[in-house]
Amino acid sequence: MMNGKQHVTGFFPAELVDLMTEIGEPRYRAHQIFRGVQQRRLRSFDEMTDLPLALRSKIGEIATPAALTLESKYVSEDGTRRFLMRTPDGRPVETVYIPSENRDTICFSSQSGCQLKCDFCLTAKLGLFRSLTAGEIVEQMIIVLNDVYGVGAETPHGTNLVAMGEGEPFLNFENLIKALEIMSSEEGLFIVPGRVTVSTAGIVPRIYDFASLDRRPNLAISLSAPDDELRDKLMPINRRWNVNELMRAAKAFEKTLKRGERFTFEYVLLGGVNDQVVHAESLARLLKKHDLQRVKINLIPHNPAEQLPYRPSDPEQVLRFKEILESRGVSAYIRRPRGRDIYAACGQLAAKTEPNLVQIASV
Ligand code: SF4
Repeated sequence: MMNGKQHVTGFFPAELVDLMTEIGEPRYRAHQIFRGVQQRRLRSFDEMTDLPLALRSKIGEIATPAALTLESKYVSEDGTRRFLMRTPDGRPVETVYIPSENRDTICFSSQSGCQLKCDFCLTAKLGLFRSLTAGEIVEQMIIVLNDVYGVGAETPHGTNLVAMGEGEPFLNFENLIKALEIMSSEEGLFIVPGRVTVSTAGIVPRIYDFASLDRRPNLAISLSAPDDELRDKLMPINRRWNVNELMRAAKAFEKTLKRGERFTFEYVLLGGVNDQVVHAESLARLLKKHDLQRVKINLIPHNPAEQLPYRPSDPEQVLRFKEILESRGVSAYIRRPRGRDIYAACGQLAAKTEPNLVQIASV
């Protein structure tokens, strides 16, 4: 419920059918509304001109497709856009659009803030406000796609989604999975699970749950340290589920991969902390020990910020780290930072609204 109204953006078609039945309307109206909200990306019933006027006003009394408010938008030199939205109870939600030549990516939030205290992440400084509803998760994509392509216009080359914005997606598991199911509908945004990646800091029981889903997205596990001593410090969730437990869950997940699929470990490189030769060697050994073969390592140069005690690794050190992994048969890629200048890059989401940022729109 949003201000007493039901937020239909988080409804399956079957739930909309129930709503129509309740108000004495035929079932097919539910499908019209689902397409209006999800496929045409309309944010008010008044715009759904295929519905009779009386129905538009009747449903408008009890439901809404628009719970989030777009507060501001920042555009980076590299074309990345950061959207700062608010929930009806005033909680920040950040979503990042990252354009690229052959595919665009939207990095969305699963929670407002985050309760995990990863030491290299600005979102951690916010703490957790609350988990987002399924509707609030889906609505982020609707707002971003409308901004980039115009209301209802098709996306030219599809969109990839990554659950790597604010929050730990596996601590909001049910709403996340519901949102992804809604978004994969052919009558809706039609973003199929293969184009979605969910990133976890290591909520081990949920990795097993995720592995058992029939149609599941890709998985990324944020690792950032090859042993407990270092990971306890960088990612305190490791004190709850340690590296070995995490690796066992990763192996269980690996066994469910289909032909040609791989999954990802993310490794944030912090200058002088976890980027040395010994760390790369120890990481390769760890993967070997757990017989993890269908993995790739995404090396993420740390995005510095005043409140964080780390510096990025030297570029030569990043290359060296990658080469050591590759020389031991581990695929490794260096992720290019995007949107650093507008606090949109990895680990930088902290609802920043400084006026010196380039703010293109304020709504
Ligand atoms: S890196 Fe992810 S899980 Fe860790 S504090 Fe930041 S948002 Fe939370």
